[in-house]
Amino acid sequence: MNELPLGTQAQQRIAFLSNGPKNHFIDGKWQPSMSGESIDTFNPATGQRLALLARGRTEDVNAAVSVARKTFEGPWSRFTPHQRATLLMRVVEILEKNYEELATLESLDMGAPLKRTLAMKNVLVQTVTYFAAQALNWAGTTVPNSLPGNFTTLTIKAPVGVVGGIIPWNAPLISMWWIIGGALATGCTAVIKPAEDASLTTLRTAELLVEAGVPAGVINVVTGLGGEAGEALSAHADVDRIVFTGSTVTGRKIIQASAVNMKRVQLELGGKSPDIVFSDANLEKAVPGAAMGVYTNSGQICTAGTRVFVQRSIREEFVERLVDFSKKIKVGDPFDPDTQLGPLVSEQQLKRVMSYVEVGGQEGARLSAGGTRLGGELANGYYLAPTVFDDVHNNMRIAREEIFGPVLSLITFDTEEEALKLANDTPYGLGGGLWTSNIRTLSRMMHGIKAGKIWVNCWGLNDPAAGFAGYKQSGYGVKGGKDHVEGFLYEKTIYINGD
Ligand code: NAD
Repeated sequence: MNELPLGTQAQQRIAFLSNGPKNHFIDGKWQPSMSGESIDTFNPATGQRLALLARGRTEDVNAAVSVARKTFEGPWSRFTPHQRATLLMRVVEILEKNYEELATLESLDMGAPLKRTLAMKNVLVQTVTYFAAQALNWAGTTVPNSLPGNFTTLTIKAPVGVVGGIIPWNAPLISMWWIIGGALATGCTAVIKPAEDASLTTLRTAELLVEAGVPAGVINVVTGLGGEAGEALSAHADVDRIVFTGSTVTGRKIIQASAVNMKRVQLELGGKSPDIVFSDANLEKAVPGAAMGVYTNSGQICTAGTRVFVQRSIREEFVERLVDFSKKIKVGDPFDPDTQLGPLVSEQQLKRVMSYVEVGGQEGARLSAGGTRLGGELANGYYLAPTVFDDVHNNMRIAREEIFGPVLSLITFDTEEEALKLANDTPYGLGGGLWTSNIRTLSRMMHGIKAGKIWVNCWGLNDPAAGFAGYKQSGYGVKGGKDHVEGFLYEKTIYINGD
């Protein structure tokens, strides 16, 4: 009988992890940092070191950008749309074939339950397939003009060039595709800087892309710290576009750094999304829906509906059911098939979330469930019980600041007007949710909430064909859909004199 922990057994099956330190992936080859330095990355379920990553600095970023530029100007620029679409379909096949390994790596690296990462296969396949279709689907226009004489006016599109992609740790397996997909669909090249806490799936994907036939140098990966490799990439004068997903604080720095050469910038940032439960909602759906709208991925989702507003007349029943539901959630080893929530990504993140639990208590909110780090067999990992704060006011810090952990703030409201005012009283505007069976309420609220994505009687669904952009400090630039792909293109207008 094998008595090793499930995660360790999984780790031993992954050849990618037994092949020594993980270097940068540049020009289709593994390349160590020029400084020779590395950083540790940990398994959040056990606190043990999982891998050594190359510590990228300016010189490594320069090397990767220079390869990406050369590749962009070289043979890659002669790939036809059909060739790029076919390539992307081959990538789908390779990803499907290697999906179990990718899902296992993701779970080891950032702690999501394996059951959940395995279930993300469809999302990945649909996303990459969507980009394959987009490779054939962008075009300029001919414009009816009012010029005197025999003029033809038309617009043509061209890839912007080298794209820098900076992604967070909470779902790299999907996040990286908002860069890779756009680049392969349009003929751009890319340098990706994954998060230092979870870089492994990005590295392995880059290697698989070459196996699928993507030319070396099209997609490059430089690992390292945000303030070093990330900053160097966002400030690089030969990077034409930055696609960034991460915190609002870092987003601000990216904007400043990008000014050096006026990079095109797309930012997907933080959120403090409202999820509003009206008295006519079906509580059988609204209670688990609102709860998992916060707890999924241990609360590490940018669109988590962390401010749950409940109408006063159903408050007591809702709280009772919510607390009961929260206490029954199974938090545990990501490789246990019964586990619903794994650990937080790192010790630092656990400390950050725990500090907000303390702040909530100090502010006078009532802790009705969770709030404690889990011990026993889980003591070495970064596990937190699903946490409910009741009696929260919208002006408390726990209702205003992004916590990025399984912490739900429950706020009571009386009228629709009040709910709308409170929902919009936030510096963010990423997502929002409504639970109601009243079409008038639905209609007024869905128009009134200032957020890029609204879920009605559901939470957390996403389709790559549907784009969205954050309001206010949740960022700008459309993610998903045709406009996402357009962001990787320049538009040029041509006037032809036919006389
Ligand atoms: P973060 O901003 O600290 O880091 C994100 C990435 O930016 C990492 O790769 C990091 O190394 C890099 N980085 C850090 N400092 C940098 C700098 N000065 N210059 C360039 N790059 C730098 O965010 P995080 O804590 O890793 O991730 C959680 C945050 O991401 C949350 O705020 C969450 O809401 C947000 N997020 C947003 C979305 C979305 O689609 N809107 C999705 C997932 C996560």
